[in-house]
Amino acid sequence: MNPPTPPVLVIGAGMAGLSAALELAKAGLRITLAERRPFPGGRSYSFRDPSGAIVDNGQHVILECCAAYRSFLEDIGASDRVPLQQRTLIPFVDARTGETTWIQESWLPAPLHFLPSLLAYKPLSWRDRRLLLRAGRAMRKDRGTDGESLGAWLRRHGQSEDAIRLFWNHSSMTILNDDVDRVSAEQGLFAFRTCFFERREAARVGVPDVPLGEIADRAVARIRQLGGVVEFNRKIDRLPEGPVISAVPARALLDLLPRDQVEGPFFSRAAGMKTSPIVNLHFLFDAPIEAPRFFACVGGRIHWVFARDAQVTLSQSGARDLMDRPNAELQREFFEELKRVLPAVRDRTPKRCVIVRERDATFVPAPGAKGRRLPCVTPIPNLFLAGEWTEGEWPSTMEAAVLSGRRAATEAIRRLTPEPSGRAVPESAR
Ligand SMILES: Cc1cc2nc3c(=O)[nH]c(=O)nc-3n(C[C@H](O)[C@H](O)[C@H](O)COP(=O)(O)OP(=O)(O)OC[C@H]3O[C@@H](n4cnc5c(N)ncnc54)[C@H](O)[C@@H]3O)c2cc1C
Repeated sequence: MNPPTPPVLVIGAGMAGLSAALELAKAGLRITLAERRPFPGGRSYSFRDPSGAIVDNGQHVILECCAAYRSFLEDIGASDRVPLQQRTLIPFVDARTGETTWIQESWLPAPLHFLPSLLAYKPLSWRDRRLLLRAGRAMRKDRGTDGESLGAWLRRHGQSEDAIRLFWNHSSMTILNDDVDRVSAEQGLFAFRTCFFERREAARVGVPDVPLGEIADRAVARIRQLGGVVEFNRKIDRLPEGPVISAVPARALLDLLPRDQVEGPFFSRAAGMKTSPIVNLHFLFDAPIEAPRFFACVGGRIHWVFARDAQVTLSQSGARDLMDRPNAELQREFFEELKRVLPAVRDRTPKRCVIVRERDATFVPAPGAKGRRLPCVTPIPNLFLAGEWTEGEWPSTMEAAVLSGRRAATEAIRRLTPEPSGRAVPESAR
């Protein structure tokens, strides 16, 4: 008879830790998931503000191409909580003119499905619209390099400053949470290719119709149902013995390790990982606002607007300039601009504005930063790494987090399950 496999400790109940714990529990391993906070979700959570409203720390959105995250939702019985568009349809409002233009999926096959929308993209001149197509063509073949910035690549492919400011930078801010000049061409081109060119369905948008906390709670319930133990308010201070999956951000991992490891050649690379902030302004009204569920803005300061019932959320990516500004000032400035792009709020006064600043919202996929993303298998026996910042193609997203959790679980299962009667590695974890 084979000895029982030792229990695995998963540290951190963000999307990476939840997905790792879920895969291990599905494979029948004994697991404990330890989370320092009193609730799960990590960087995607919700909270009750003093007025009683439930507010997300920040609006989260997925696309159809986030296949791992979508199958995670299926596993926890929450697919219906993040409905996907039947066809890509994204309104863009030009804050300078108030005019709306739509990026929408046509019936043309990929990679041509956005061609009609790009040719009709009103914020740009006719000449600049044609230039978008030129870059799009190059993007499908060129993988880019980690040494060059996306901005330099775009300029090298004939993009004007207007095309960058009013189109490419908006996409870069949305998917990579930073400016084209701060992210690598390789990371940017991967994101654009995957989301916009490879498949016609890929950019269909999914917006949660429940607070983010409900999705994380469902994952916890499923892990417990499968026999896993989930402990909140349990901060791990030092790396314990035994099989461990660390699913914490890079900086938190370094705090867990012995000094000689932190300074050693493997882990020290992660120390230089930079982060980028996101600021969300949630305007709460006393009655529902008539507005599209979401729209993008260009030509002003607002990046995205999301409306649900009596709540309108502005989501500002790469928002370093907003981090230390007083709330009252931000509320005034952004509400003035909101009135220009969303007529339904012109005669309304919000009863409250909740501003959430996430200083370390995402890692920056800067030129040269690829080498800071550590692989799942480490020089410390039985320590596996997960977390959206670990090695992988995706930028800092829930998709990257879920993929990393699965990768770590697969490695742990492979190494811990006794041969030859080893449990089959689940297909979803391969
Ligand atoms: C405002 C905002 C908006 C975003 N928008 C999107 C979006 O639209 N789409 C998208 O895909 N992604 C988005 N992201 C990014 C996404 O949220 C993250 O990439 C993802 O959630 C990271 O998951 P993770 O599990 O790797 O890390 P985390 O979520 O950071 O989880 C790590 C967990 O470990 C815990 N922990 C840390 N140290 C310890 C310790 N010592 N002991 C125990 N527990 C510990 C933490 O409390 C945390 O719960 C957004 C992020 C923010 C902040």
